Amino acid sequence: MKELLRDNIANLTPYSSARTEFTGTASVFLDANEHYQNFVEQAGANRYPDPRATLLRKKIEEVLALPFENTVVGSGSDEVIDNLIRATCTPGKDSILLLGPTYGAYRVFADINDVRVDEVPLLPSFEIDLPALRAFLTEEKQRRREGRLKIIFLCSPNNPTGNSYSLEIMKEILSLFDGLLVVDEAYIDFSDHESAVSLLSEYERLVVLRTLSKAWGLASARVGIGIARAELIEVINHIKYPYNLGTPAQALAVKALDNAAAVYSSIAVIKEERSRLTERLAELGCVTEVYPSDANFLLLKVDNANRLYSFLAQSGTIIRNRTNERLLENCVRITIGSSEENDALLEGFSEYMRKYYA
Ligand code: PMP
Repeated sequence: MKELLRDNIANLTPYSSARTEFTGTASVFLDANEHYQNFVEQAGANRYPDPRATLLRKKIEEVLALPFENTVVGSGSDEVIDNLIRATCTPGKDSILLLGPTYGAYRVFADINDVRVDEVPLLPSFEIDLPALRAFLTEEKQRRREGRLKIIFLCSPNNPTGNSYSLEIMKEILSLFDGLLVVDEAYIDFSDHESAVSLLSEYERLVVLRTLSKAWGLASARVGIGIARAELIEVINHIKYPYNLGTPAQALAVKALDNAAAVYSSIAVIKEERSRLTERLAELGCVTEVYPSDANFLLLKVDNANRLYSFLAQSGTIIRNRTNERLLENCVRITIGSSEENDALLEGFSEYMRKYYA
């Protein structure tokens, strides 16, 4: 694992926060230059949060069966993505690989860190082009000089295409290269596919990402989870901002996880709505294709994505226009909302049909 880290990270003396140095019990805390008084009605608001999010990670272990020593929480999974790039990729030398179209933030975070991004495009079916990936990885090993490929990001279910990748293909990718495979499972709760977490005991270069922003209904709190071997978790703990997740966010996350039954039943409703919308949208003359989705959104190919986007926006319904991405010409991505929101969307589509197809 050490050879995958940047030298400065492997040799880092991490910041030692007041709250990590002391582990016993005490009643007078004069160590962190906090105010002794709390001016808002939120317990503990005047105190720094637990840097290791202990209670939350225990709750994550209890509810999501992700072992405590294998998790780190970030300010959204976005933070964990950024930390993984910063831990491993030396700016101007190392690179990451994307299988696109996929979630846009991987590229942006790499760009911000001055880390090169390569891409092996997905096939038009959105499956992985294995021959092209094999060829890329063989060539990458041969042309290594100073830097190297450190991370492959694989989003499963993939945003924005909605399809999932098999554990077999993940194992194959891990056998083809010597860097980290980061499997982003932001949408796994909406999928019937098996999680890559089951591979963690066998593969030390695997990292799995989860988030509470989607199925857990907690996008505002910014809680993402990185799951990996304890050694790598420790590295991320060293480079993340010490107090990256505030006490209110940690408390909200515990509350959401305590309400798992409600979350699971809402996932069932979202999946039903996904089927209903798929059927209804597929009937429309302006929709060329509704792609199968394992996530809480649908990707559609339509007659004219720009025109449809503007039309729906004018009546107050915002969808995501993906037409400028490779393989996604005239495609839009639509989140599955409440049944009322979905009805409003369908009504917008009907008006669009009346205007352009009457
Ligand atoms: N991964 C994927 C695939 C996503 O679609 C998103 C959000 N759109 C994220 C990660 C980031 O999620 P968050 O930072 O809210 O956890």
